[in-house]
Amino acid sequence: MTRKRGRDSESQVRPKERFAVFERDNFQCQYCGRRVPDVTLEVDHIIPVAEGGKGSTDNLITACFDCNHGKGAKVLRNSPHCDDRIATADDLAERQLQLDAYLNAQRHKEHAINVQVRYLQEYWLEHSGWSRSPEMNSLRIFLKSFTLEEIVEVMDYCIAKRMSDHRYFYKILHNKRREEATDGTQTCN
Ligand SMILES: [Zn+2]
Repeated sequence: MTRKRGRDSESQVRPKERFAVFERDNFQCQYCGRRVPDVTLEVDHIIPVAEGGKGSTDNLITACFDCNHGKGAKVLRNSPHCDDRIATADDLAERQLQLDAYLNAQRHKEHAINVQVRYLQEYWLEHSGWSRSPEMNSLRIFLKSFTLEEIVEVMDYCIAKRMSDHRYFYKILHNKRREEATDGTQTCN
């Protein structure tokens, strides 16, 4: 049986690299935004191999089957659902593998966030000498918009100014986020 599916073109990309690209791209097709388990992911060469493109990860991008095979636009118009191929056992196995890797990556990310939250809470307690640290959930949310260093900087500021009420800390970060969002809109215009 012939198997002329997209992975033929990826034969030169090793599984380890393929999954590193998926993980970097959040297991999401970089063209249409769909992710596992809705689609089976492949890697697309930004510069095609035929034109001298390398198989290194910086020349690779995550794409779903449809987008990688030039059907992306049609799929986007017609259906937000799964690609319309009849899945073979190989496809299903690959999809399961990708889903497992995706969930695993999510767990790692979750763990990394928890470590950062704990670090921030301890940093606050240790440097301020106060008995209560900012809320875990608030810190989790701020970590989506700011780096650890940026949050530590605001903590240092609050501690230096002896702002023990966490509302000041939250407010400064809220304002900072709003300012950055406004700056972003302005540069777009
Ligand atoms: Zn796609």
